[in-house]
Amino acid sequence: MDVSVILTYRCNSKCSMCHIWQNPTDPKEEVSLRTLEKIPYGFDYLNLTGGEPTLRNDLEEIVDLLYPRAMQLEISSNGLHAERLEPIIKKYPDIKIRFSLDGLEDTNNSIRGEDNGFQKVDGLLKLKELGGEDLGLAITIQDDNAQDVVELFHFAEANGFELATSTLHNGFQFHKSDNVPYDRLRVASHIEELITNQLRTWNIKNWFRGYLNLGLIAKVLGHDRILRCTAATDFVFIDPWSDVYACNVRPDLLLGNLEATSWDEINNGEVADGIRKKVYHCQQNCWMVGSAKTAMRHSKYAKIPRSGPLYWVILNKLRLMLRKPIPFGEYIDYSKIQADDLTIKRNIFLGVAFKRNLQKKEDPHYIHYGEFINK
Ligand code: SF4
Repeated sequence: MDVSVILTYRCNSKCSMCHIWQNPTDPKEEVSLRTLEKIPYGFDYLNLTGGEPTLRNDLEEIVDLLYPRAMQLEISSNGLHAERLEPIIKKYPDIKIRFSLDGLEDTNNSIRGEDNGFQKVDGLLKLKELGGEDLGLAITIQDDNAQDVVELFHFAEANGFELATSTLHNGFQFHKSDNVPYDRLRVASHIEELITNQLRTWNIKNWFRGYLNLGLIAKVLGHDRILRCTAATDFVFIDPWSDVYACNVRPDLLLGNLEATSWDEINNGEVADGIRKKVYHCQQNCWMVGSAKTAMRHSKYAKIPRSGPLYWVILNKLRLMLRKPIPFGEYIDYSKIQADDLTIKRNIFLGVAFKRNLQKKEDPHYIHYGEFINK
């Protein structure tokens, strides 16, 4: 099982597709070390995310506490305070670190509302110098940066970084319900190009990232998921108020509160059984890294892929070796593209003053975001 801990809703980026930063938590009310201590040992992956996790003053202590509890610990950061990760990477060089970078210089700055966002690459290079072994960049592919994705992939490869990919999603974590691509087919065509480039490399991880990106095409076109979601069985999210959810999209999939109860009660009770049934019938077609990679891997052995993705990878790697193209039309029905009634232009916040709304623990949460449509 994987667990993602949303350590804070504070964030120093101002992204157009994620409004966490507009609704920060009070640091005094964010999930405590005492509560995190209840997370048992033996997880496959444990992801520390936000908001921006480096804004937590106790991040080093959190890592000390949680590092031994999973096969792999990941920190997902915007990279604007890379220096805060230096003591952590010196101590734990095998921690996976991903910095969000949403395109080449100007594109990234505009989408993420960051003044000099590309400088985070220098911060990542410094972590590499300090011994970091699993470093990478992460892009949310969308209309405004889809044209940069192949170049960014080669840039990451040239620097010894991985490129993690996702696309626009709606969900309570992002405070968004209008993240819809403007031109689904155009975005999908850039992802096709990325997949072909990934399968041309001699890096097995890139090949499986290619399959994950095939799922992104399905998501972008508004199709059903290519593999069933296993939220609450293979992964859960803990929010900054210690509430445990099956996923970061549907606020109705609440399993319990880790501050008030034990991990066992949350994971093994009747509530969890009911939520797993709801997940089984979920109609959303999310395809985020957390739900995609768990769906792609073997149910018992996290390091081994399921037969479907494995077969797809072998077949298409062979095709490319024989100089034949990947027949994307065999996997994706391009005649079916989700029709959107209303596509709202996303606001850009670079250089724009904005008053944040502090969210208190006792406030009702996520109530405006009950109807997420990920199509
Ligand atoms: S498919 Fe449903 S259960 Fe799975 S992550 Fe999306 S909203 Fe959650």
